[in-house]
Parts: sequence; C-alpha cells; structure tokens
Amino acid sequence: MTLYPHLLAPLDLGHVVLPNRVLMGSMHTNLEETRDWNRVAEFYATRARGGVALMVTGGMAPNREGGVFPGAAGLFTPQDIANHRIVTDRTHAAGGRIAMQILHAGRYAYGPECVSASAIKSPISPFAPKELDEAGIEKQIADIATAAARAREAGYDGVEVMGSEGYFLNQFLVTHTNKRTDRWGGPYENRMRLPVEVVKRVRAAVGADFIVIYRISLIDLIPDGSTFDEVVTLAKAIEAAGASILNTGIGWHEARVPTIATSVPRAAFAWVTKKLMGQVAIPIITSNRINTPEVAEDVLAEGCADMVSMARPFLADPDFVRKAAEGRGAEIAPCIACNQACLDHTFSGKISTCLVNPQACHETELRYEPTTSPKRIAVVGAGPAGLSAALTAAGRGHSVTLFDRATEIGGQLNMAKVIPGKEEFHGLVGWFATMVAKAGIEMRLGQEAGVDDLRGFDAVIVATGVAPRDPGIPGQDGPNVVSYIDVLRGNAPVGKTVAIVGAGGIGFDVAEFLAEAHHPTTDPDLWRREWGVADPATRRGGLAPEGPNPEAPARVVTLLQRKPEKPGRKLGKTTGWIHRATLQMKGVKMIGGANYERIDAAGLHVSFGPARETPQLIAAETVVLCAGQEPARGLADRLAAAGIAAHVIGGADVAAELDAKRAIDQGARLAATL
Ligand code: NAP
Ligand code: SF4
Repeated sequence: MTLYPHLLAPLDLGHVVLPNRVLMGSMHTNLEETRDWNRVAEFYATRARGGVALMVTGGMAPNREGGVFPGAAGLFTPQDIANHRIVTDRTHAAGGRIAMQILHAGRYAYGPECVSASAIKSPISPFAPKELDEAGIEKQIADIATAAARAREAGYDGVEVMGSEGYFLNQFLVTHTNKRTDRWGGPYENRMRLPVEVVKRVRAAVGADFIVIYRISLIDLIPDGSTFDEVVTLAKAIEAAGASILNTGIGWHEARVPTIATSVPRAAFAWVTKKLMGQVAIPIITSNRINTPEVAEDVLAEGCADMVSMARPFLADPDFVRKAAEGRGAEIAPCIACNQACLDHTFSGKISTCLVNPQACHETELRYEPTTSPKRIAVVGAGPAGLSAALTAAGRGHSVTLFDRATEIGGQLNMAKVIPGKEEFHGLVGWFATMVAKAGIEMRLGQEAGVDDLRGFDAVIVATGVAPRDPGIPGQDGPNVVSYIDVLRGNAPVGKTVAIVGAGGIGFDVAEFLAEAHHPTTDPDLWRREWGVADPATRRGGLAPEGPNPEAPARVVTLLQRKPEKPGRKLGKTTGWIHRATLQMKGVKMIGGANYERIDAAGLHVSFGPARETPQLIAAETVVLCAGQEPARGLADRLAAAGIAAHVIGGADVAAELDAKRAIDQGARLAATL
C-alpha cells in the first residue's frame, strides 16, 4: 500500500495513460542557450528516469517578436527540430514523456519588436509593444500553430500553450492591457477570442493523439484582472477548442504579490484551482509551492486538482517520484523555494542549478563516480559546506567522519530556519540528517576537533564556517548590544525599539525576525491578508480592495548600512523586492549612508557623509550587530602549522558573499574529486 495513493494513481488521457499525477512544470534554465543538446537531453532524461509522469520544457518562442528576449530558442529550422529530437529521443528511451511549452511573451518580450493587444508598456519592461493589427494577430496564431506542429515533428508528446503569468494570450484577456475596440477587444467573448482560436488551431495542427496543455491564469493578482466567472467561461471554451489538460497559472509577473518564493505558504493557491474543479471534464493541474509528496497528496486527496505541477522540486531532486513510490519520501532533497540558484540565475543570464543539488543542469559535467580507492576522510563542520562534502564523499564510497562542536548538524542553516518565511530550512536540515544517517557517516557531534583528532585521515576537509565581524563601534560592549547569533538563538532579550547595524542578508533576516509578531508563511489566512489576496470570485484579479493589510509590527526597527545606497540592493534578484516590501509593511526604517559614531544607553548615534555631518540618534533599547562575517580559520591555521594538508571550504575559505548555495556547491565539487 502506497503512502500516496492519489499522487501515484495513473491518469488516462484517452490516447495515452500517464503513470502518475506529477507534472514537471516548465522552467527556463538557459540550458538550451548552451546549444549543447547532449546536456539538455541529459537534464530531461535524468528526470524521466526519476519517474515523473510528464515534463514540460522551458518556453520556446513561436517567432522572433514573441521570444522572451531577442534570439530566444524556438523551433525555427530543420536543425532546431533535429536538436530537439535528441532531447525527446533520450527522454523516451528513459521511459518518460515530454511536452514543449510554446511561450509568446507579448509585451514581456525584452526587445523593441514586441507586440501585444494594445501599445501599453509593462512596468517590468523598458519596451512598449506594438499594437497588432488583424493580419498581425493572424500571424501570431499561425506561428504558434506551426510551433506546435514542429514540436510533434521533433518527437514531443505534447505542447503546453502558455496562457498565464501575464504573457501574450493573457494580455488579450483583461482590460488592463487590452483596450481594443475590434473583434479582439471589448466584451469578454472578444477578449478571449485569441487564446481560444490559438488552441483550436494548435489542435488542428497536431491531430487528436497529442497532448495539448493550456496554462490558464486562475488569479491574475493585478488591477482589472479576470473575474472567476470569466476564468470559468474561458476554461470551458478552451476545453471545447481541443485542450487535453488545463494547467494553473498564478499571478502575472508584474504582480506585487509573491507567488512562489519561500515565504509563500505551501500549496498557497490550491484553493483557487479547486474552484475550477467540476467546471470542465478535462484534467486540471494545480501548482505553486508544492514541494513534498505529502503536500501533493493532500492537495489531490482534498479534490483541489487532478494532477500537481512541481518545477523547482525537480531541480532539487530528479528522483522525487521514484523515492515517493518506494516509500523513501524522507530522502527527497527538498526544494526550499529560495530561487537563489534557479530563477536568480535564469534572470542573470546564468545557467540554472539548485542550491541543494549542484548537479542540477550540470548532469554531464558534475559526476559523483564511485571511487576506486576508498579513503578515510575527516570533515570538520556540519554546516552546509561540510554536510555537502561529507555526503558526496560517502556516496562515492569513502569512509567519512564528520565533526562539529555543536550537538546538532546544520550550522548557520539552524539560524535561517527560525526566520519568518524561511521555515523550509527545517526540511533541509532534516533531509541532511536523514541522508547523513543513511550514508553511514560517523558523527562526532559536540566535539571540537583538534589537530590530534585529525591525524591519520587520508584527507581532511575544514568547513568551520564563519565568525561575526567586529565592527569596532565605540560602546558596542554595552549591555544593550547583542549579536545576531544571540538574537536568532534566543539567547538575548530584545527590546521594543531596535537598531540593526548591517543590512546584508542577515540584517534583513533579523529585521524580519524582530518585526514579525507571527509567521504568515505557516498561517495562510494571515498571509493572504498581509499581501491583499482575495477570492477572484468576488474581487477582480483576486486583489483585496483595501490592498495589503499587514499585522502591526512586533517592534520598531531601524536597519542601517554604511553604503550610501538603498539597503537590500544585493538581495536575491527575484526575492529581494519581497524582503524590502515585507519590511516596509512592518514599518522598518531602512537607512543607507550611515557612519556609526557610538552606542550608548539611548541607542545608536550616527552621522552622514564624509564630513560626518547631521548627527542623529537612532533611539533603541537594543542594538543588534549584523556587520558581516570573517572566515573561522583557526583550525585550518593550526593544521597548516602541524604540516597536515587540509582542504578549506565554505565560509572558512571565503566569508564574503557566502551563502548556502556556494557552500553546498563547493563541498560537493571538492568531494567529487577526492
Ligand atoms: P553581508 O551580506 O556581507 O552584509 C554585511 C553587512 O554589514 C552589510 O550591510 C555591510 O554594509 C555591513 N558591514 C560590513 N562591514 C562592516 C563593518 N566593519 N562595520 C559595520 N558594518 C559593516 O553579510 P551577512 O548579512 O552577515 O550575510 C552573510 C552571508 O549570508 C551573505 O553573503 C548573504 O548573502 C548570506 N545570506 C543570504 C540570505 C538570503 O536571503 N539569500 C540571508 C541571510 C544571509 P556596509 O558595509 O554598507 O555597512
Ligand atoms: Fe528550489 Fe532553491 Fe533549488 Fe531553486 S535553488 S530549485 S528554489 S532549492
């Protein structure tokens, strides 16, 4: 008897039976842009071997004007089709199925040729689109249908027509972006004409025995978005036009409500998909922040959908479905929804990967081969770098001993997990604990490893992490000054007014920790209120009329940095705005360009500018130091003095710009070579 009967039930689509209810949602990884088709094929084949029922590729442009950026990948030439054949053949040989997403970006296309329903620029693009005329619209429909036919020729099992997230088809649906007065604008039956026509033409182009998924925007989260009645009307028309499956889209890219970040509650939008259940006969897929088999099973058991879409969880662990089916759910590497190595990379033009799985998108290059000469390896430090090195080395057949002076593993991850909105770190630490036990790693916790403990090992890895930087502010030894470590470990009382020195990742985290009275991420009703999410059945676009309605802050917090720029500029590309918005909602004052003059019982005294002008008191009962970190290299230095060679990784190697992504990657890459 399986633990996940709904998740692992087959789904009959008529001409094909999917083996389970899991779809790998579309992700743009930038892999196609490498033009290394063996690498692209291996990425998908690895996930096919892991048992996912159906995968959707990253978005492929149907034409030049619709590409997300100039030169975006698509099926334009016979060579393109042959390249994609490599991917589909490899996927099929691995026992999988794959659909190609056709993504027309409309006004989100990052280029001067972009087109849309009306010539209205989006707030997230510098390019105003050209308003299409009748012939222009016909060309877009024909190009999308041609892309679908070519996908079939390239061996795909289906296509997904991207109709959500504020892209081209979505732009025709709502008056926010469609001001037309012809047969493509005005009343809803006109505004929905384009997506319906597209699906009809796609179906005609591909024949009956081909999967056509339509990704429908269920809650736009923008002003003048669709009502739920309109969504239902569209869903029925899309079904009649020939779609095989409806996939869920949540929120336009320009929406100011987070939809997939780690601070979004798990399965936060499954209730919206549930509203569509029973309205159409074709299967409906739900998505967003579903990252464990338990969450997925619950969503299906509660009748929210027929199938679940997970995307990033398949970067974290390609074997998600196989492990769930084998009752090894605890061994699934959890996607913590951080976006740090996937979306932040995509939007910086880098190849996506995963913070918890550095092999993601590097399948052909980062290989963990079984060792032919097993060694005894000591790893000192059970933070992310040390854990990653220890697990990878043990997985390759080495005998590993892991030391940490703390009595629990996790290092700095244990501080991250107490931050509101970072609860997923609990799962990551739990996963490391499961895997360390399974790998048979000898644990020496609660033990400060000294030089003598490390003699006799074939290799020593030092992952001793970081120590807080001393900012040297006069008065910092006072009783009202504490470090972030004491605050996050609950070792220091914190007053009702707080000044935070340092606005890096940890300064922001501490500000959220101190300003939030509750954890909205684990309280979906509170989270919806905080961000102003309403039922799209009663509020157009699903936006509450009163807007965000945050709880009162738990403390009055001021966050400071010395750099004369807006604090938070260096936070994650796709998540920084959420942290800044959260703090703004909590009334946190963010100050750049401060000189720290001194701390006394009244608070933090600062001045501004090179001439140290405009002295100001930041009144605070407590001052928290979050001034960055230095490598903790004591052990590495002692080993060097004793003539014992050691590999130094993680924060002990370089503390600047350290995060768990770099630490885990460095640990894995080192251990892959030992
Ligand atoms: P950080 O990001 O390097 O920030 C250190 C802060 O301290 C900066 O605001 C810096 O700004 C200030 N500072 C530096 N030297 C100082 C000095 N001598 N006196 C006073 N202030 C000083 O370090 P962190 O916040 O400790 O974070 C450590 C690492 O963890 C970072 O690399 C970060 O990316 C990562 N992290 C990431 C996240 C995330 O959400 N992704 C969350 C937490 C931590 P000024 O120099 O302008 O004052
Ligand atoms: Fe998930 Fe973070 Fe990995 Fe992206 S980088 S897949 S969000 S864990």
